[in-house]
Amino acid sequence: MIFLLPREACGGGGAQRRRGALRELKKGPLHYASRWSPSPRCARSALGGREFATLLSAYYTALMTLLRFIAVLLFTIAGPASAQEFKLELPIACEFGKTCWVQQYPDHDAGPGASDYTCGGQTYDGHDGTDIRVLDTKSIADVVASAPGTVTGLRDGVEDRLARTPEDRAAIAKIECGNGVVIAHDGGYETQYCHMRNGSIAVKKGDAVAAGQKLGQVGYSGDAAFPHVHLSVRRNGDKLDPFSGAAATACDAPDQSMWSDSAAAKLAYVDGTLLRLGFASGKVEMEALEEGRISVDPPTDDWPALVTYVWAINLKKGDTIRIDLRKPDGQTLTNSVTLDRNKAQYVLFTGERRPATGWRKGAYRAAVKVERDGKTIVSRASEATIE
Ligand SMILES: [Zn+2]
Repeated sequence: MIFLLPREACGGGGAQRRRGALRELKKGPLHYASRWSPSPRCARSALGGREFATLLSAYYTALMTLLRFIAVLLFTIAGPASAQEFKLELPIACEFGKTCWVQQYPDHDAGPGASDYTCGGQTYDGHDGTDIRVLDTKSIADVVASAPGTVTGLRDGVEDRLARTPEDRAAIAKIECGNGVVIAHDGGYETQYCHMRNGSIAVKKGDAVAAGQKLGQVGYSGDAAFPHVHLSVRRNGDKLDPFSGAAATACDAPDQSMWSDSAAAKLAYVDGTLLRLGFASGKVEMEALEEGRISVDPPTDDWPALVTYVWAINLKKGDTIRIDLRKPDGQTLTNSVTLDRNKAQYVLFTGERRPATGWRKGAYRAAVKVERDGKTIVSRASEATIE
């Protein structure tokens, strides 16, 4: 089965509309005006006392203007360096790799293709932010400020509804960000947080916020195909990819991460993430997983079917994903697929209907592994017992 994430809020024209809807600070470029103007005054050849004083004064003036110029020049040069001093903390309070994961990065491909900052495929055409997801729509996590600043815009009151169809997306036209907050920071920086849970916004316009302060909760309002927070970062209105510290224009741009060291460690790029390996009493659909409708209870002898499934994200074209269910009698059911293209989300399962004689008692062992270029890049196993 193929589960591609639909285009969401923040790409292309949608971004423009969203920016219109969620008021942004518009700042012009910073100007470092120099008052330096080389003095044309010349010393006279014959120097009297007054002339000497005038000459000294002229030299003094020239020296001071030169020093001012150097100071301005240094300040101007220091501008880009100060960009590195603006550090971002995580925009979400969660346990990375257990309760939240990066689902999509900003797109660095200027054309119709899509490329994340590593030149990988964990993005889609025109995506202009970082999507950090939680497991499903029932997962609760706080969205928090990535840096200290002032709230300059917000919106609440948009219903949480996964945008899956053209009709869904039409319903949130011009409010693709859903419930969101914009924060202005020193140095012309701005962060924006989208798709928050309806009614969860915990700040007001004009509030001063600290890094890590709660802004609301992760939700799926606006153009969100899965529950997540979308973080946009801008400087003087220009969009930046916080992973490369630059405009998302080339995926091989030098890495000047804007994340703090601790945030960067948690955000380390991962290929092939397993969200869940579980058991179910029937066929497992992606929508049911996203909506938290698949029970995580262990199997019982009245289950009409016994299925083991894996829910994975960010798999790559050519990856082979294989799931096994070994039954108590040693027999193993298997399903294996080699992907014909990158998959933002993927579900694979194997299983069987309940035999007329009932389930054999004992341990049922599920195992999944993803292979790339002949090597296992991720694997997991789980066991359940029917007694
Ligand atoms: Zn996004």
